[in-house]
Amino acid sequence: MKKILLSISIFTIALVNAQNNTNYWQQHVDYTMEVEMDVENYKYTGTQELEYTNNSPDTLNKVFYHLYFNAFQPGSEMDIRLQTIPDPDARMTNNLGTRENPQYESRISKLESDEIGYLRVKSLSQNGNYLQFEEVGTVLEVNLEKPILPGEKTTFKMGFEGQVPLQIRRSGRNSAEGVALSMSQWYPKLAEYDFEGWHADPYIGREFHGVWGNYDVKITIDKDYILGSTGYLQNADEIGYGYEEEGTTVNRNKGKNLTWHFVAPQVHDFTWAADPGYIHEKLTAEDGTVLHFLYKDNPEIKENWKNLQPKTEELLLFFNEHIGPYPWDQYSVVQGGDGGMEYAMLTLITGERSFGSLVGVTAHELAHAWFQHLLATNESKHEWMDEGFTSFISDEAMNEVMNTNEENPHTGSYRSYYQLAQSGVEQPQSTHADRYNYNFAYGAAAYSKGAVFLAQLEYIIGEENLQKTLKRYYDEWKFKHPTPNDFIRIAEKLSGAELDWYLTDWTRTTNVIDYAIESVESEGDSTNITLKRNGAMPMPVEVTVTYNDGEEELFYIPLQIMRWEKPASGETNRTVKDDWAWAYPTYDLKIDAEKSQISSIVIDESQLMADIDRNNNQYGTELENSNE
Ligand SMILES: [Zn+2]
Repeated sequence: MKKILLSISIFTIALVNAQNNTNYWQQHVDYTMEVEMDVENYKYTGTQELEYTNNSPDTLNKVFYHLYFNAFQPGSEMDIRLQTIPDPDARMTNNLGTRENPQYESRISKLESDEIGYLRVKSLSQNGNYLQFEEVGTVLEVNLEKPILPGEKTTFKMGFEGQVPLQIRRSGRNSAEGVALSMSQWYPKLAEYDFEGWHADPYIGREFHGVWGNYDVKITIDKDYILGSTGYLQNADEIGYGYEEEGTTVNRNKGKNLTWHFVAPQVHDFTWAADPGYIHEKLTAEDGTVLHFLYKDNPEIKENWKNLQPKTEELLLFFNEHIGPYPWDQYSVVQGGDGGMEYAMLTLITGERSFGSLVGVTAHELAHAWFQHLLATNESKHEWMDEGFTSFISDEAMNEVMNTNEENPHTGSYRSYYQLAQSGVEQPQSTHADRYNYNFAYGAAAYSKGAVFLAQLEYIIGEENLQKTLKRYYDEWKFKHPTPNDFIRIAEKLSGAELDWYLTDWTRTTNVIDYAIESVESEGDSTNITLKRNGAMPMPVEVTVTYNDGEEELFYIPLQIMRWEKPASGETNRTVKDDWAWAYPTYDLKIDAEKSQISSIVIDESQLMADIDRNNNQYGTELENSNE
C-alpha cells in the first residue's frame, strides 16, 4: 500500500512539473560501448549499442552521428578552414613566415596516412535490421528503415574502427607535453535533435551539443597505461593504479591488457586520456566529491600539481555555493590535450604552466562542468553562454581563491570587449561559432563579451537579483539544454524587469553603448545636465554628482522599456528620476543645486556598464579610468 501511495505522489509531482514546462522535451540515449586500443599503432576497434528514446513530438526518419576524428585529414573542412581564415589557431599551424609577416601552414594538411585521424562505421543496424548509411566528412547520415515514432524507443548496434590522429587540436596522440592519448570526440556520437531540429554540424572548430543519457564503456588497453576518464570505474580492484579502495588487494589478470569499465550517469559526452607515466592522486572535497588528478611524472611540474589539489577543492566549493551543487560524485583534472578543454566529469589541460596559470585554467574548465556540461547550451549557436558565463564565474572564483580581491574581477573582459567593439570586425554573438571571420572576433565575443553580459546585468538588475538568477537558472535548467531566452526569462521573473531588449541588443547586434554628458548649465538656483545617447543600445543610466562639500548623490534614470526601477542598494543616497525613453537622443537631468556647488559628475561610477567611450562620461574631474 505504501508503495502505491508513493508512486501516485511521484506521478502527481511529474504532472505538476509537466504543466510548468509544457513545451520542453529532450531526447535520451543510453550508450554501451566496448573498445580495444592498440597502443603501438594508435588504432582501435569498437562496438556500440544505443538505446535511443524519441521524446520529441516528431516522427524521425533519419538519424546522424558525429565522426569527429575525420576532421584530422588533409582536405577536411577543418583543414581548409585553417588555410583560409586570416588568424588560424597557432596550435594547428606552422608559421613559415615571420612574426610580422606570418605565412601559415595547416598542420592537418601535412598529416601522413598513419598520422591522420579517422572514425569508420563498419556496420549499423536498427532493432536487428541492417541500415544504409553514408559517411559525409565528419557526419554519418543514416536513413532509417522504420521511422521512430514520438515516445518510441529504438536500438542501434554498430561496429566501428578508428585511428587516433597526431595531436592537432583537443584530442590526439603524443601531445606536446608527451601525453600518449587524449581521447575526446573519439567515438561515433549521436547528433542531438531538439526543438530546432537536427544539429548534425560538421566538425570545423566548435563542437558541443550532445544527447543526454547514460554511458557504460569498457576500454581494453595495454596494462601499463593509466586512465583518467569520464565515469566511475566499476572494477577498481582489477585495475589498481590508485583507483582501488585503500587497503584492498588488486587482482589484475595475467594478460597483456586490462579492461577498464566505466559507468557515467546523466552526461552528454564521454572522454578519457591514457599514459603509462601518469601519477594519480585523489582528494575528497568537503562536499564528498572525489577529485582525481592525473599528471606526468615530471619533477618540474610536481609541486604545482600538488598545490593545485586544495585549490581545486576551493574552486569546486565556490561554484557549489554561487551556482548550485556539483551533481556527480567525481571530477578529474587530467594532463592532456593542448590547452584546456571541458568534458563530462573531467577536463584535459596542459600541465607545464606557472601555478597561477594552472589554477586559472582549472578554474575555467571546472566552471564549464556547470556552464556547458550541466547547463548544456548548444555551443555552436550560443557560444557566449558557455564561454562567457564560464569566464564570468571563474574570474569571480579566482578573485577569491587566489586572494586577488579586486572590486571588479572582470576588467580584463571589459577591455577585450572594447577592443572588439572598436576593431571593425565584430560580429553579433548570435553568429554560429564556426562562422566568425576571425578567431579573434569569436574569442572576444564568446569569452569577453559573454562575461560582460553577466557583469553588466548586475548593473541593470542589481547584484542580489543576478545572484538569484544564476541559482534559479541552475535549478530549472540543470541536465537540460537551455537557450538564451530561458536564461533571460528567469532574470525577468526574478527581478520583475523587462529584459528582452538587453538580450536582443547585446547578443544579436553589434550596437554599442555610449552615453555622454553633453552640457552642464546653470538655471538660476538649479542646474541642468544634458545627457546624450550616442550609441544605438539603450541602458538605464546612473549619474553620480559630487558636491563641493564632498557629499555624493546618485541619480537613477530608469530605462522606460524596462517598465521597472532597480532597488536602491543600502548605503547610497539615491534619487530616482523620470524614465528615459530610448528614441529621445537627449535627456535633461535637473538638479536642485547651483552649478558652482557641483564639483564633479560621472555617468556609471561602477564602470559595469560597457560604455565604449568613457571620456565623455565625466565632468569636472580628471578621468580616473579610461577604457583603452
Ligand atoms: Zn571555455
